[in-house]
Amino acid sequence: MTGPGAFRFDADPFTADVFRETPAPAAVCTDVVKTYRTATETVTALAGVSLEVPRAQVTVVVGPSGSGKSSLLRLLACIDSPDSGAVTVGGARVDTLGARGRRRLRQRQVAYLFQRPGENLLPYLDAAAQVRLAAQLRGAPVDDDGVHDLLARLGLGDRADHRPAQLSGGEQQRLAVACGVVGGPALVVADEPTAELDTAAAERVLAAMTELAADGVAFLVSSHDPRVMAAADGFVHLDRGQRVP
Ligand code: ADP
Repeated sequence: MTGPGAFRFDADPFTADVFRETPAPAAVCTDVVKTYRTATETVTALAGVSLEVPRAQVTVVVGPSGSGKSSLLRLLACIDSPDSGAVTVGGARVDTLGARGRRRLRQRQVAYLFQRPGENLLPYLDAAAQVRLAAQLRGAPVDDDGVHDLLARLGLGDRADHRPAQLSGGEQQRLAVACGVVGGPALVVADEPTAELDTAAAERVLAAMTELAADGVAFLVSSHDPRVMAAADGFVHLDRGQRVP
């Protein structure tokens, strides 16, 4: 099976509306401020940022080191809460939730991909089990056919019984993408997902993301990588905690 059916599961009310035709964006930030307090100073990482993350697109966050990219990703991934401003993911307000509420929302509605492929995976599970577990944690269990279809779509059809150590870095990152999209989260956030990959592997990861975005997945990716820029549907440029044109 190809198309959204390969990873779409509407059993859970938290995830049910993700792929409905609707103009609502996957996530929204409105006038978001984020500061960090250290023993000696207060650092303003985001100084009033507003943006919409559209569904069915790869949106790339660009900016120099220290411009606030990771801080923005962490807010939209429901890991952190802003000092002020509103953050909405999958139609749910994040900024009004406590740590427990954010964790629950994150579990159902957000996938977060780290730069290092291995950090996205559990070393002792094979590829099929990783996808099954990701779906279960998202409250959208998937049957064996669904797992196999999704792996095949990502070019991992013959790797279902391989553990991460038996996969290349690119295969690991494509498996992480599979775990990210299974169960239909509102948003897949990826922090420099191709930084550790050679060009061929990066291009396959990006092709997978582009194809899945066409089926409805919202990707929000931070990157300096020109290969990622070339795959972007839209950009958010940051400089010193603010959006710039
Ligand atoms: P980027 O991802 O673009 O490099 P960050 O969001 O990591 O930017 O950082 C934005 C600013 O916030 C920087 O000045 C950084 O030093 C600061 N910062 C980020 N995280 C922390 C933290 N946990 N404690 C103190 N300052 C931080």
